[in-house]
Amino acid sequence: MTKRMLKKYAELIVKVGANVQKGQEVFVYGSADQCEFITLVVEEAYKAGAKEVSVQWSYQPVTKLHYKKMTLKQLSLFPAWKEEKLKYQLDKLPACIHILSDDPDGLKGINYDKMAKSRQAVYPKIKPYREAMDNKYQWTIAAVPSPNWAKKVFPNERVSIAMKKLWDAIFTTCHLTEVNDAVDAWREHNKVFHSRKKFLTSKHFDYLEYKSSNGTDFKVGLMPGSKWGGGSDNTLQGVTFNPNMPTEEVFTAPKKGVAEGRVVSTKPLSYNGALIENFEFTFKDGKAVSWKAEKNGELLDKMLTMDEGACYLGEVALVPKESGVNKSGILFYETLFDENASCHLAFGKGYSDTVEGFESMTEEQLKECGLNDSMIHVDFMVGADDMTITGYKDGAPFEIFKNGTWAF
Ligand code: ZN
Ligand code: ZN
Repeated sequence: MTKRMLKKYAELIVKVGANVQKGQEVFVYGSADQCEFITLVVEEAYKAGAKEVSVQWSYQPVTKLHYKKMTLKQLSLFPAWKEEKLKYQLDKLPACIHILSDDPDGLKGINYDKMAKSRQAVYPKIKPYREAMDNKYQWTIAAVPSPNWAKKVFPNERVSIAMKKLWDAIFTTCHLTEVNDAVDAWREHNKVFHSRKKFLTSKHFDYLEYKSSNGTDFKVGLMPGSKWGGGSDNTLQGVTFNPNMPTEEVFTAPKKGVAEGRVVSTKPLSYNGALIENFEFTFKDGKAVSWKAEKNGELLDKMLTMDEGACYLGEVALVPKESGVNKSGILFYETLFDENASCHLAFGKGYSDTVEGFESMTEEQLKECGLNDSMIHVDFMVGADDMTITGYKDGAPFEIFKNGTWAF
């Protein structure tokens, strides 16, 4: 990949993704094997006026060693220095840039029970800080290829070709070409969402009904104050940013306790470094009451029992089959991309800014509205080419999706 394109991509992530402000601090999270690209991101962040850019390096083989070698007791501790870091973050509200590149199978073979239990132990200590920072800082997630990820996506290609193909796919889906003004392309792309989310919010649907020939036959309730989002987001201070690059979804949060029927997945799910394949769920009173998977079903068991809210839904998202990610025809084995190829749902936490008037509501009030809370938020793909989605208000149907795409 040419240096020029890499720089252009790094600039896009800093300017459009995180929209780093003059004098702001920036935290960059990325893998140690991406040091060259991350250096470009740091450089662009300084160019945008960042006061200090801190990189928090990780490396999947090291993460794997932690889960293998550390005791559950040790993994479950939350030392004071980590808490100090969160306090600092809450005080300074740095923009956060996450660069993904992990191998989708990279943590295969670790003890998932240990991983789940240690996360359950640590989460209550992180939660108050997360909640206090919510909607107050810009964050973005973007990806760069790694050899193992590229080989997973293009198993029949040589590593160098697979890497090039994955780079090309990332650039295409992120609206970046050799010649375009990508910042401008994103401005145009973001406009597309605005009329749709406004319209869907104005319909105040009581519930949505999903049907497709693969067996999905499912209803999910929405909150009276459910607001639809999509494309760029704003902090409470009014700074615009793009949480996901790419992004093609329009989404809201469902009402906890209202979901019935069967949902069949249409893409594998990479969860905690392993792939769950060909799975489905049955919902009753909003809760997943049974599920099965052809591969790695035990990971679903862990995921859905992480806490009380883990088996309830926190997101419904609509993505038409013409989305750029779907048109690429590539299965990325990475939710950041695959969720933008397909209508999806998410288990776990709902985003508070999908509730009308969230700015002045307490956590308790959000809960009363029906917003689900959990330590997890995991998207899974359900969109099919023949999917129909109908919204109902006071019993009257409105066709939202027909044959996998917008019906209005
Ligand atoms: Zn989503
Ligand atoms: Zn999500």
